[in-house]
Amino acid sequence: MRKLAGIFVLLVGSLCAAVVHAQAYPHKPITIIVPFAAGGPTDTVGRTIAVAMQKRLRQTVVIENVSGGGGTVGATRVAHAAPDGYTLLLYHVGMATAPTLYPDLPFDPLKSFEPIGEVTDVPMTLIGRPGLPARDFAELRAYLARDPAALTYAHAGMGSASHLCGLLLMKALGVDLRTVTFKGTGPALNELLSNRVDVMCDQVTNTNSQIRGGKVRAYGVTTPERIASLPGVPTLHEVGLRGFEVAVWHALYVPAGTPQEVRDKLNDALRYALTDQTVKARLNDLGTDPVPLHKVTPEFTRDHLRAEIDKWAQVIRDARPYVD
Ligand code: ASP
Repeated sequence: MRKLAGIFVLLVGSLCAAVVHAQAYPHKPITIIVPFAAGGPTDTVGRTIAVAMQKRLRQTVVIENVSGGGGTVGATRVAHAAPDGYTLLLYHVGMATAPTLYPDLPFDPLKSFEPIGEVTDVPMTLIGRPGLPARDFAELRAYLARDPAALTYAHAGMGSASHLCGLLLMKALGVDLRTVTFKGTGPALNELLSNRVDVMCDQVTNTNSQIRGGKVRAYGVTTPERIASLPGVPTLHEVGLRGFEVAVWHALYVPAGTPQEVRDKLNDALRYALTDQTVKARLNDLGTDPVPLHKVTPEFTRDHLRAEIDKWAQVIRDARPYVD
């Protein structure tokens, strides 16, 4: 009888251990919300890191595109998701501009999320549709000086990187372009390639192959130096927009309240992904790099986000007449 009881205890014990083990994080697929349309730059970065993260986590990592409101619709979804490590957000500089641009924002970038770490800083390019008569920036500028209302500017919603870059551009040129809003620059680029919108700023992760293939007009890059993958494209600074600079920093977040142990696992998986040779090669081919590892920490990301919220509040205030 005693022997039987002993066996029973052992069985129950191993059953409990099995249940605990089965429930250990992550025991089911993880979703990364990309707050822009599929096929765009944030989606591309998300899909690239997801493949490597799932290797490290030994669990499926899927991308879900929840677009709208310049990324704020997807971010709201994550802010209100269960804080269990199964719903993540990949968002860019838009996280820092949303509080200034959206007075009724349903989340607080610094309080509703826990950052996991930064991912990549992506340069932007100013491009034009293939049939646009202006072949370089000087011609584009002259074209706009003659008729500022002649061109449409495509972007991915208020606060998206394409919107912010356009804002800076309009302010620098002193022209108010007619804007057309899309759910992401993936669909916007398709319209531009079909000559249905005229110009836009977009991240190299979306434009590099089109520029290299001569499919669009390339007027300039938004970094202080030319970029290695597009050596023939001047910087906007070089062609006359002194100090023009936009880099689209991306970071990964979870809802506030997510347990530390889960956040640590996600940080480890992100660091693993960003040092993976396939990820590096893919991002390089798209014209960018993973960030250095000192930026892949919650502390760095939180401090950077706080500083960026202040920086952009000022920039947006100065560019107010061009916001819509
Ligand atoms: N990152 C956005 C996208 O993936 C575009 C943007 O921010 O302009 O479509």
